[in-house]
Amino acid sequence: MTAKNMDHLVSLCKRRGFIFQSGEIYGGMQGMYDYGPLGVELKNNLKHSWWKSMIYENDNIEGLDASILSNPIVLKYSGHEDTFSDPMVDCRSCNARSRDDQLDGGKCPECGSSDLTEPRPFNLMFKTNVGPIDDGSSFAYLRPETAQQIFTNFKNVVDSSSKSLPFGIAQIGKAFRNEITPRNFIFRVREFEQMELEFFVEPGSDEEWHKKWVQKRLDWWEEQGIPADSIELYNVPDEELAHYSKGTVDIMYKFPHGLEELEGVANRTDFDLGSHTKNQDELNISANVMKNKSSNTRLAIQNIETKEWVVPYVIEPSAGVDRGVLAIMNEAYNVEDLGEGKERTVLKLKPHLSPVKAAVIPLKKNNEELVKIASDLKSKLQKLNLGRIILENTGNIGKGYRRHDEIGTPLCITIDFDSHRG
Ligand code: ATP
Repeated sequence: MTAKNMDHLVSLCKRRGFIFQSGEIYGGMQGMYDYGPLGVELKNNLKHSWWKSMIYENDNIEGLDASILSNPIVLKYSGHEDTFSDPMVDCRSCNARSRDDQLDGGKCPECGSSDLTEPRPFNLMFKTNVGPIDDGSSFAYLRPETAQQIFTNFKNVVDSSSKSLPFGIAQIGKAFRNEITPRNFIFRVREFEQMELEFFVEPGSDEEWHKKWVQKRLDWWEEQGIPADSIELYNVPDEELAHYSKGTVDIMYKFPHGLEELEGVANRTDFDLGSHTKNQDELNISANVMKNKSSNTRLAIQNIETKEWVVPYVIEPSAGVDRGVLAIMNEAYNVEDLGEGKERTVLKLKPHLSPVKAAVIPLKKNNEELVKIASDLKSKLQKLNLGRIILENTGNIGKGYRRHDEIGTPLCITIDFDSHRG
């Protein structure tokens, strides 16, 4: 079972402290959300599960945590300054702005009018001023994807970790996009987190690796509680491909509002490394890169046998943390009928993702002996590094179990008068 609609998830998230609207006490701000006490645990657990599956389980993948503020020149040569835009239209009747490619039947989603302006490109990158003088001469972008800092650090990582092909660099972090129409709760927001792997391979082996990574990512999502029958793969047609991609497979999930992208797995070819490289003419770069006279580094790797310099192709599985949280909560959401018109909500999360791993509940509130046993048990469990363990000293066992059903706690332990200190 999944949530019947988004409102049920939004309400559970607020009621139990998973996700709140950002700046809610001032009326909130569109496209921004804050993760509450349980949301931050769930999100961290999801990120940890990805990090473990990428880096700890693969000796040929290294991690990175790079800066969010990005030098504009990086985003110039990556192609984002010129092409990272969505087509925007204005409604002449009500002035609402919309994305042209998301209109239903060419009509304004606010008032239904067909009197719309011609679409024009709207660049999605946020700019911010750098340094004390705000005259527009010195600015940085908030990165629109985490990938670019992986490419610009390619040589640093290769030189410091002696890698040969195939190998990957992985990163989790915030990305920012000035979405024209943020909507559907945390599905489309302006500030979000990505989990991105750039996997560098020999040119020619890229298509095979692309297929492998799509399968690996499907397997991983299944381990997080998203079954294959809630997923559809979408082979992005040529005319919809991003400027850097030779082929992209979108992993589409049946969100409460419809089938939409959870993760994209792109074959970025040698476009990015090629674009950021100096002396491009000396290398055999296949992509149509921007001629670069500013870079001082050759982003290539030497083939140990042939001694030839190769600009690797890149396979990029790029997943949204927030869309992941939404999909996982949706799959886990269950309402159980208790008869006599009563029901309870149970969040059936995979235990490794649960915000609270165990609740220890003394039968009687403030009973010295019971609380002492519970507190000792909590400390012991906490030392196992399983995650968060909670001592619930409320004396209301029924309420405690209901709360922990609703937040997906796999284990509740009642301490009663027969319990002994171990
Ligand atoms: P969409 O077509 O839905 O706008 P995209 O194709 O632009 O997404 P990518 O550039 O492939 O997205 O980004 C990789 C991942 O980052 C997406 O699969 C998604 O999970 C996440 N993502 C992208 N934009 C947003 C956003 N505005 N809010 C939340 N997550 C996002």
